[in-house]
Amino acid sequence: MATLKQQDTLMECLNCSHLKTAEIWIALEPLVSTENDISIYRLESIAGRYECRISGLRWVCESKVTLLYHFSSWDPHRAVLQSMGYRQGGPLLDIKIIEGKLKEVHLPHFACFGVGDYDPSVKQKVRVLHVEDSGVSIEQVDKVTRFHVKILHPSFSLRGVVLQTLGCSVHCDLQIYRARTAHLTLHAYLMPCDPALTQAVEKQEKCNGSTRILKPRPEKSQWLTSDFYLTTSCPSDVNPRRLELAHVDPPNFFEVFIRDADFDFSLNLSCKSRKQTIWNHEIREAEYRAPILAADQHFVDLHQTALIDRVSQVDPILDRLLKSGVITADDYSDVIAERNNQKKMRELFDGPLKGCGPEGKDRFLEILTELEPYLINHLKRE
Ligand SMILES: [Zn+2]
Repeated sequence: MATLKQQDTLMECLNCSHLKTAEIWIALEPLVSTENDISIYRLESIAGRYECRISGLRWVCESKVTLLYHFSSWDPHRAVLQSMGYRQGGPLLDIKIIEGKLKEVHLPHFACFGVGDYDPSVKQKVRVLHVEDSGVSIEQVDKVTRFHVKILHPSFSLRGVVLQTLGCSVHCDLQIYRARTAHLTLHAYLMPCDPALTQAVEKQEKCNGSTRILKPRPEKSQWLTSDFYLTTSCPSDVNPRRLELAHVDPPNFFEVFIRDADFDFSLNLSCKSRKQTIWNHEIREAEYRAPILAADQHFVDLHQTALIDRVSQVDPILDRLLKSGVITADDYSDVIAERNNQKKMRELFDGPLKGCGPEGKDRFLEILTELEPYLINHLKRE
């Protein structure tokens, strides 16, 4: 089973912090596998209240359950949604219950119900799109909470939250990627907080060898369809100058180009209609000066020797590789049987990592970054 952590919520927002509840949900890391280029998330739990760390999907069960889900595209349903006067309000999830029964499911949404001049009736206009073989329907929900809609005794197929409203404040994100180019080029994606969009961006950028520069989200929700402007504290070319906050898959981005960058600078996102800065963060030279990798070589292969010599948290890393499905139980037993860390790492590189492909290596790098942050930062700067 995956890492457990108790918490109230995985997200924060200053506009609706007064709607915070004292509910405790146990966060679960899903096992991830890939089928036909689609990431499938598998979650297992005993009785209790749980939240998936990837999608924010919550469930309540009274005995053991196993469920699988993947993100699905809204594209085939956009026209029908529009004709009925709805828009997307969260990820569209294809959920299958493999074992057991759910008492409640809470589907994540990105609408914010805490803005001062917000119309409270909007909450009554939240529905769920339900896609079945027999057709598409819009369903009532049992309750709307700060980040979720609750459905009692759910049966499953394809479901996602929809909003019947034109004006809507949403929790949003600005995700920064550094493209693999000679001069500094950043892609800054502005989008509603939808984990399916995050996954789409990640996929698009990683295919092109980009690296993410992790920055906090905007602290407050923003109005959908508002225009936003990105500026830098140094001379730069930003294209386009203006972006509308919208749910588009894959999300649109600002391209920021800075020639001969070798300094720290700040990025500023503002909403001109309200003449206010909504997000401002410094981008430090050390954050973007990552090495440009050889086209075919993965970071973990490029630094194989250093990793074999210097990684110390080998056993916890192996635990996570096993939980993530990157290595099998047999691989795990073979590697952990080695006498010392260096031999374990060599065995890992010589065996399971050879056949795990770029996605497996990406996951290995994520685990290394989490457990050996200083070593990985050091190698990135070399
Ligand atoms: Zn909010």
